[in-house]
Amino acid sequence: MKRSYCYKNAVLKASPFCDDRPDESDVSVLVVHNISLPPGQFGTKGVEQLFTGTLDPDEHPFYAEIAHLKVSAHCVIRRDGTVEQYVPFNKRAWHAGVSSFQGRQKCNDFAIGIELEGTDDLPYTDAQYAALEAVSAQIISLYPAITLGRIVGHNDIAPGRKSDPGVVFNWAGYRQALSKHLKR
Ligand SMILES: [Zn+2]
Repeated sequence: MKRSYCYKNAVLKASPFCDDRPDESDVSVLVVHNISLPPGQFGTKGVEQLFTGTLDPDEHPFYAEIAHLKVSAHCVIRRDGTVEQYVPFNKRAWHAGVSSFQGRQKCNDFAIGIELEGTDDLPYTDAQYAALEAVSAQIISLYPAITLGRIVGHNDIAPGRKSDPGVVFNWAGYRQALSKHLKR
């Protein structure tokens, strides 16, 4: 995993659920997600196990439903602000699924996916917002095509199918924090 394409303070993990982007120079959208496994429980190994293909279907009824999925994200931000990196930014992580941004399908091709450990209705922690800002700032510096209008929620690119990061996500605060890292 190329360190230059990873968040500088990330704990590096490796997901097998990634591949090459069709065009490595075309990275222009940042997608914010949430996840917790089992749903609503934090600090477990479930997310890491899902993203590394090691989730035990017998450990929880919900795991039996999802253990076969081949999914990943570039980063996961834990409740304490710890950032785990599963896929380097230059590779294609499998986070968006069926999706569309401004009429363009297959967002994984050109997007970066960041997961906040959480749910749609429980407020995220200050440590998570601080980490998200730091991760996003590094991503923006690597990929200047990612402007404020191209930073979206999973719900924006898969409406009706996905609701994360949820109504509790503080878009105004996040955008305000990011504006100082953007040149335009
Ligand atoms: Zn999502």
